[in-house]
Amino acid sequence: MSFTATVLTLYPEMFPGPLGTSLAGRALREGRWSLETVQIRDFATDKHRSVDDTPAGGGAGMVMRADVLAAALDSVADDRPVIAMSPRGRPLDQQRVRALAQGPGVTVLCGRFEGYDERLFEARDIELVSIGDYVLSGGEMGALVLLDACIRLLPGVMGAASSGDDESFETGLLEYPQYTRPVTWEGRTIPEVLRSGDHAKIAAWRKHRAEVDTRLRRPDLWERHEGARVRPPSGARRHDEED
Ligand code: SAH
Repeated sequence: MSFTATVLTLYPEMFPGPLGTSLAGRALREGRWSLETVQIRDFATDKHRSVDDTPAGGGAGMVMRADVLAAALDSVADDRPVIAMSPRGRPLDQQRVRALAQGPGVTVLCGRFEGYDERLFEARDIELVSIGDYVLSGGEMGALVLLDACIRLLPGVMGAASSGDDESFETGLLEYPQYTRPVTWEGRTIPEVLRSGDHAKIAAWRKHRAEVDTRLRRPDLWERHEGARVRPPSGARRHDEED
C-alpha cells in the first residue's frame, strides 16, 4: 500500500492543486501516493447543510461544529494518524514529517473560520499541527505544506536516493550554502575549496558553514544541537552525573 492522504475540507477543489505538478504530481500519477478528499459539508445534518455556528461566549466569526466534523472523520476511520491543521498545534518539523512519510499515510482536517469546537479533540484521537506562528485563512495551505514535505521523502520520489540526507534540519542544522556554474558570476567566484576535488576538505568546509550559518540565523536550532551534543542522547545519564 502506498502513502494515502485523505483531506477533509470545505474546499476539495484546492487539491491536489500544486501537488499535481512537479515531483509530487509525477509521483501521484505513478501511484507512489494517493489522494482523496472528503467534503465536510456532506456530513451536515440540517436543511441548510451548516457546518459552523456562532462561538459560545460570544465574539467574532464562526466555529466549526464538532458533530459534523466527527461524522466526517468517522467516515474515514482507519489506522492512519489524524492531523488537524491549527495555529494552536505543535509546530511541524522534519522529524515529524519523516515519521509520517514512513507510515501508511495521513488524514488531514482543514479548519476554516475561527477554528474547531474543542470537544472534537477530547472525543477523537487527533494531533494538532501548526505550520508556523502566523494565521492562515484555512487549513488547506497547511495541508498542502505537510503533504509536500512527506511526499518528497517517499521511495522513488526524489531523484537521487541520498539527496535528502544532509539537507536542512536532517542533521539538526541548516544546510551549507550551495553553488553551481558559472564559476564566476558578476565578479563572484565559487569558493576555491569546492573546486579542489578534495572530498575531505569539502566535507569539513560544509560542516563548518552549516554550523556557522545555523548559529547566526537560527540560534534556537543551534542551542538544541549543542545541547544534544553535550548531553548524552535519549535521556541516558552519564555515570558522573549526580541525582
Ligand atoms: N481563530 C484561530 C485561527 C483560525 S484560522 C486562532 O486564532 O487560533 C482558520 C483555520 O486555518 C484554522 O482552523 C486552521 O485549520 C488553519 N490555520 C491557520 N493558521 C494555521 C497555521 N499556522 N498552521 C496550520 N493551520 C493553520
